[in-house]
Amino acid sequence: MLIFAVETSCDETSLCLMKEGKILKHLVYSQEVHKLHGGVVPELASRSHLEKLQKLTIGLFENENLDPSNIDVFTATCGPGLIGSLLVGSTFAKSLSIGFNKPFVPMNHLEGHVLSTSYNNRIAYPHLVLLLTGGHTHTYLMKNNKSVDLLGESLDDAIGEVFDKVAKLIGLPYPGGAEIEKCALDGDKYSYILPQPLTNEKNFNFSFSGLKTHINLMIKKEKINDRFVKNLCASFQNNISQILIKKLETTIQILKENNLSINSISVVGGVSNNAYIKNSIEKYIASKKIEVYYPIKEMMSDNAAMIAWACHTNFRKEKANIFFKEMPKMKIKNYL
Ligand code: ZN
Repeated sequence: MLIFAVETSCDETSLCLMKEGKILKHLVYSQEVHKLHGGVVPELASRSHLEKLQKLTIGLFENENLDPSNIDVFTATCGPGLIGSLLVGSTFAKSLSIGFNKPFVPMNHLEGHVLSTSYNNRIAYPHLVLLLTGGHTHTYLMKNNKSVDLLGESLDDAIGEVFDKVAKLIGLPYPGGAEIEKCALDGDKYSYILPQPLTNEKNFNFSFSGLKTHINLMIKKEKINDRFVKNLCASFQNNISQILIKKLETTIQILKENNLSINSISVVGGVSNNAYIKNSIEKYIASKKIEVYYPIKEMMSDNAAMIAWACHTNFRKEKANIFFKEMPKMKIKNYL
């Protein structure tokens, strides 16, 4: 089965050709235009997808010497994301599917992230997924490969968003996540004690806006210089890692009280690129009898490979020719 996937939910224009569940070709174009504005501008993102998508697709087919009529399934991210950007990518893929009279499968972006580690790992269930992106901070429980239950989520800012906002407050360029990680390397992580919202509560949810406000107030009182920025970055990054570990601990404990012992954890999404967070979680997990998985590098940030893989995992012949299937929804279960 040859799948052609399109991902345009935010500021990456990405295409993937996947054959029998293996990546044949994968392209990711990261839009530069947003750097000037210190964050993603939705209107500019849609326009950039419009400019790039057709060119990239024709180039991909030509380079691969591929006759597009040989594609069996067309798929695209249909949500969640920036509505204009989603419309560009999904309408493009849907039009190709109609033109070549092949099925179109709409995919959920979050499902793409959640399933990404099953591409390179054999998952041991019950399985916990920690999804850390610029738009979402979620934990999911997968009792088996057919069920995905949303357990916890951020009540305010997403984790990637708080990295970008804190970076902006201290004058670092966009995208802030990578810049904070770089500055933190030369800082002292014990310089500042920062708040850890919701970590003392026995629930699955996260909150980051109080931490951001606290840093905003600190900046108004302190003199911003190189040393301050480096120490704050190191303290902030360490604090975020501790929040994640404490919430993982609470989640595992609550599930245990509900007779569910977690065998493995996936850390997915763009923030899983952060080496410090990755190492901290690995160190914590090493003390338990739990396996930890990460996606392959190209499936960490937003990409069409994970969308192709989620489509490959979900696609059933009997569901073919459904051009407008209802978006897959993830159930929220209450374990408290
Ligand atoms: Zn994403």
